[in-house]
Amino acid sequence: MLAVPLTSANRHITPMHAVGVEFAPTLLFGLPPELTYEAAAHEYAHAWAAENCRPDLPPDLREGFAQWVAADVLRSKGFLGALEKLEARTDSPYGTGYRRLRSMQRARLWAAIRKEE
Ligand SMILES: [Zn+2]
Repeated sequence: MLAVPLTSANRHITPMHAVGVEFAPTLLFGLPPELTYEAAAHEYAHAWAAENCRPDLPPDLREGFAQWVAADVLRSKGFLGALEKLEARTDSPYGTGYRRLRSMQRARLWAAIRKEE
């Protein structure tokens, strides 16, 4: 993972992002801890999904899954304010996808996203 300083020039970009087929997340440092955990969990969920999930996931399932993992990390680390903000999002595909995944039972969720063996 590459760490680059958070500056006014890169503040607009997502805290981490994937480059190409190989995942090379870039993590901005200088972020509040809860945003660092949220962004890292979200992006590593995408990395895991790239190897283990159907490649044709619709955006709401793809982003909803990453948000679902990020929410779990925020909850486990006790960042409840950040969790509340994540859960309050209604934008598509992040907020809508998270709500869709959260409403699924775990077995149905895995069946919806996992790659067929
Ligand atoms: Zn994402």
